[in-house]
Amino acid sequence: MNLYDLAPAQLEQVLGEIVSPPFRVKQIEEWMHVRGAASFEAMTNLPRDVRAALAERFTISFPEVLTRTEPAQDGSQKYLFRLHDGQRIESVYMPMGERTSVCLSSQAGCAVGCTFCVTGFFGPGRNIAPSEMLGQFFTIRSEKQIPADHMNVVFMGMGEPLLNFENLVTTLDVLYRSMSPRRVTVSTSGIIPGIDDLARLERRPNLAVSINAPDRKRREEIMPITAKYPLDELMASLRRFPLEKGRDLTIEYVLLAGYNDAPRDAVALAKLIRGTHAKVNAIPFNPDPNLPEWMKRPGDAAIDRFVDTLVQNGVRVTVRRSKGREIAAACGQLRGKEIAKSRATAGRPLRTASGPASEADSRR
Ligand code: SF4
Repeated sequence: MNLYDLAPAQLEQVLGEIVSPPFRVKQIEEWMHVRGAASFEAMTNLPRDVRAALAERFTISFPEVLTRTEPAQDGSQKYLFRLHDGQRIESVYMPMGERTSVCLSSQAGCAVGCTFCVTGFFGPGRNIAPSEMLGQFFTIRSEKQIPADHMNVVFMGMGEPLLNFENLVTTLDVLYRSMSPRRVTVSTSGIIPGIDDLARLERRPNLAVSINAPDRKRREEIMPITAKYPLDELMASLRRFPLEKGRDLTIEYVLLAGYNDAPRDAVALAKLIRGTHAKVNAIPFNPDPNLPEWMKRPGDAAIDRFVDTLVQNGVRVTVRRSKGREIAAACGQLRGKEIAKSRATAGRPLRTASGPASEADSRR
């Protein structure tokens, strides 16, 4: 059993059965959940025989780092991890002045199938265990030597976190040992039952929802999940999501040139989100050879027009312009390159960009 798969209360119970006195249990819990120890050996204030007894019964291990990209101009860096069964997941380290954000994956693939997303292109993968989510966090935190109170965590990497709800909640419980829930954001494609489950948690993270189109028809084209969870019902779930004082929802909006970036789309988006206490995070699309050719990043002038129109309509907006930050929006690309490489080596064809592009063009 990997002890990092247990929530703090479960860990105390399991350890309490074999470790005494009780303060030793507290020490171990702190070594793991606060300091992120990657081995029992590292727990230097525990007697040797306690460490040996733990190592005989349990493991505490994290996924292995396979690749780190060169840091981008702003210092952002992408990590590719290998899980114990050979699956690969990505995380992103994003320094932002005083604070540092780490973007984590929650599944080793994704069944949601958003058409602008490389992870969606490569299809479903298994749920990631808490130890695998925490491993991304603790590995990057320790490599970059980031003080815990300087960190933000966003679940915006590969996968739909609300489709891995139980493991997500265990992971959140551990993260909250060293950081406030206000520093943690869960980003969803709009899984309504998951949003309602999140709303019932006593300690809620921030909620970000990927909207990407101001009307149901276009949203369903690029986010097929809309057929299951319609846009109007999704907006109703956001309106009933409880927000403490000073907290906002985030609406993510990937800008696709000529598709959803016109000023009239900004007006429609402003109308759609009215009453949700939300700010918009506009994310210019990041092209990838696996994604439809018609999907292009808008020019700076179009981005400015879109953002200005939102502001004129009373919406608070941030826009991700820097290259490094975009790597978070493009999570799955590094793993995508790996998969493409291994398929090419095995002589298996990849779907070409022109296939889905013509399909998408005909739908527009
Ligand atoms: S954007 Fe998120 S929910 Fe959509 S396919 Fe990609 S990983 Fe899945």
